[in-house]
Amino acid sequence: MKTRIGQGIDVHAFGEGDHVMLCGVRIPHDRALVAHSDGDVALHALCDAMLGAAALGDIGRHFPPSDPQWADADSRELLRQVDLLLKHDGWAVTNADITLVCEQPKITPHAKQMQANIAADTGLDITDISVKATTTEGLGFCGRGEGITALAIVQIKSW
Ligand code: MG
Repeated sequence: MKTRIGQGIDVHAFGEGDHVMLCGVRIPHDRALVAHSDGDVALHALCDAMLGAAALGDIGRHFPPSDPQWADADSRELLRQVDLLLKHDGWAVTNADITLVCEQPKITPHAKQMQANIAADTGLDITDISVKATTTEGLGFCGRGEGITALAIVQIKSW
């Protein structure tokens, strides 16, 4: 059995709106994340970590923003497709750890539901999925509330 790790990172800027989608959870907020899709920066980072671990390219290659098919895409659907790509290649995710970097909205009250969504989309046990958050103490673009950064790391094993 082989194991590998992969990392993913994504950033989206805040714009006009009244909610953000993070790990498939709709969180009321006074702004939204600007994106071609639903702007789920956390799931985009997770997808890139999974694709990276399997050396299958990146999310932009599989779901190009230029393709109208992915306009306003539900990022949970992208996650399910990425999970299938890995499974077709003989890989299974063993665990995932996601960090969201933002001052607002607060993530912790939603973390359990976020983990449950990822578990449902990948078949992982919820205890193998971590969603956590940090601030940058007001520093940088995340600290100024200009956008959200998401980081993800996953381990995969061959099966
Ligand atoms: Mg993105």
